[in-house]
Amino acid sequence: MIDPFGRHISYLRISVTDRCDFRCVYCMSEDMTFLPKDEILSLEELERVCSAFVRLGVRKLRMTGGEPLVRRNIMWLFHALGRHLKTGDLDELTLTTNGSQLGRFSNELYDAGVRRINVSLDTLNPDKFKAITRWGRYDQVMEGIAAAKDAGLKIKINTVALKGVNDDELHDLVRWCGAGGYDLTFIEVMPMGDIGGEMRLDQYLPLSMVRAELLKQWTLTDNAFNSGGPARYVDVAETGQKIGFITPMTHNFCEACNRVRLTCTGTLFMCLGQEDAADLRTPVRAGESDDLLDAAIHEAIARKPEGHDFIIDRRRGDLGVGRHMSVTGG
Ligand code: SAM
Ligand code: SF4
Repeated sequence: MIDPFGRHISYLRISVTDRCDFRCVYCMSEDMTFLPKDEILSLEELERVCSAFVRLGVRKLRMTGGEPLVRRNIMWLFHALGRHLKTGDLDELTLTTNGSQLGRFSNELYDAGVRRINVSLDTLNPDKFKAITRWGRYDQVMEGIAAAKDAGLKIKINTVALKGVNDDELHDLVRWCGAGGYDLTFIEVMPMGDIGGEMRLDQYLPLSMVRAELLKQWTLTDNAFNSGGPARYVDVAETGQKIGFITPMTHNFCEACNRVRLTCTGTLFMCLGQEDAADLRTPVRAGESDDLLDAAIHEAIARKPEGHDFIIDRRRGDLGVGRHMSVTGG
């Protein structure tokens, strides 16, 4: 699949549920309303859509959410999609998780063919963890990360940089990840979904400032590794690990964009920062043949926009894109 700007679309992210066992302040309001069940693709339908993308050339699938591991029977989907790894049609099956269920599922994820996972963790302080996630349990996440490591999964920690919240912990996070053997990616907070007031503008911490702070204690060298995404990487000489910086607000990263995103309702977003979307639920529910589905996917890729329009601007309010991150999964 090649889009109108010559980019190979090889990466699909799937939000398998909009539900979550946490209520992170930058992601959801505490009284989020979730989608009715009949709008959500069944696991079998998700499997069909993912397999269609693999057939059409996608080489990497990432499950996200909401929290992917709270969807009932989600391991069935991992096992079903794992077969594409065995045939060599897929290079990677992975997920982004808050870590709460890794104690239960790490071994099974490994058995299904998962080798690397992203775990979101913004702080090493249990009180702050509670304040950020509202419903999360710090100890459970720490145990989950340990279980994932024991199961042989390679871990990357995702940390949203939050002004006045975790900016005093940057060095601790680098040290902790170094000791555990985890890569670390800092993410700038993005203007997605209505989570109340001007919160996100107050939380916004440019990663240029994170990088400047890190340089005071660590030797960072640019790393050429590029996943086709918005992250830029450095090597940390002292720990041997990588640090990534995801800066959607301050840099244009769209030229190399190789990804599209599917929501749990079967809506395909061709760009995280744009509203244009394609409905894949109708073709998948139209019958057993995949012809309509394949045609809808091709038609959608032909509409992938050149770039995004995120804006954080006080005059406009902070709503860059109206949908929540838990819908498209980041
Ligand atoms: N529940 C899983 C988790 O937290 O890892 C997967 C879904 S979560 C929406 C994916 C990532 O998006 C997490 O790393 C989270 O920190 C990040 N995220 C959520 N809302 C965000 C926002 N407004 N700006 C930047 N990152 C955000
Ligand atoms: Fe849940 Fe992840 Fe959103 Fe936090 S960031 S509320 S863990 S979906």
